[in-house]
Amino acid sequence: MRFQGRVAIVTGAGSGIGRATARRLASEGANVCLVDLNEAGLTESLPEGDHMTMACDVSDETRVEAVIKAVMDKWGRIDVVANNAGIACTKEPITENAMDVWTKVLGVNLIGVANFIKHAGRVMCDQGHGAIVNTASVAGIRSGAGGNAYSASKAGVVNLTQTAACDLGGFNVRVNAVCPGLIETGMTRRVFDYAREHGKEEKLGSRCELRRYGRPEEIAAAICFLASDDASYITGQALPVDGGNTAS
Ligand code: NAD
Repeated sequence: MRFQGRVAIVTGAGSGIGRATARRLASEGANVCLVDLNEAGLTESLPEGDHMTMACDVSDETRVEAVIKAVMDKWGRIDVVANNAGIACTKEPITENAMDVWTKVLGVNLIGVANFIKHAGRVMCDQGHGAIVNTASVAGIRSGAGGNAYSASKAGVVNLTQTAACDLGGFNVRVNAVCPGLIETGMTRRVFDYAREHGKEEKLGSRCELRRYGRPEEIAAAICFLASDDASYITGQALPVDGGNTAS
């Protein structure tokens, strides 16, 4: 019960890693505000107990401010933010990229994270405590794991994690990131479906040292560790949770 009496916001909570994170935080005592574009997904994710959902596009600063206000009106504090909402993009070479995809992907994956750090960060600085955990990706620390815009957005999240940790450290607000490897979620559904159809599922796991792909709950566990007091002296770090993918 590491989050008993604490309030958490989880973005991208309508599916996958965000859903697992919201459920884990709730199971450890937090009151959770689940945020997503996908309202049906939010309803499915909602744990039993004193929690709330908010439909919000994380790239829209006005909506993000509305989430912060709603959480403060209901619970009066914000202890944890898991910035997890994200979208993927296709993997063609840069010379073939449609630039509106860059605008969209950076808007959600990077500016969406910045929006929540800015507005929840203000509350946390006033409180004198808080923990923010951003979901980056192995694609943000090595090339080839995602499309150009996606990888650049995740590298941006890793860097933003460091700069925000420097900005907020003096207020006892920690900012960290997780960098997942391949996890079976809505985002990767097509990859898994294709691999299964073609008898190549085992190959998906062979990209990492543990020889298997990961589960959303394994990323949620790392996010909750970094958000908890167990990580009280850790800030500005990007933790690969990738079965050893980045070890080789
Ligand atoms: P997912 O598609 O299951 O979940 C992503 C959620 O984000 C969805 O519910 C979606 O509706 C929501 N979302 C998308 N755009 C949004 C917006 N503008 N505002 C609010 N919500 C929005 O995928 P997932 O794998 O659980 O992804 C979670 C995070 O993990 C993402 O940031 C993703 O980039 C990252 N990640 C995933 C993998 C993987 O292999 N699945 C690997 C590395 C990193």
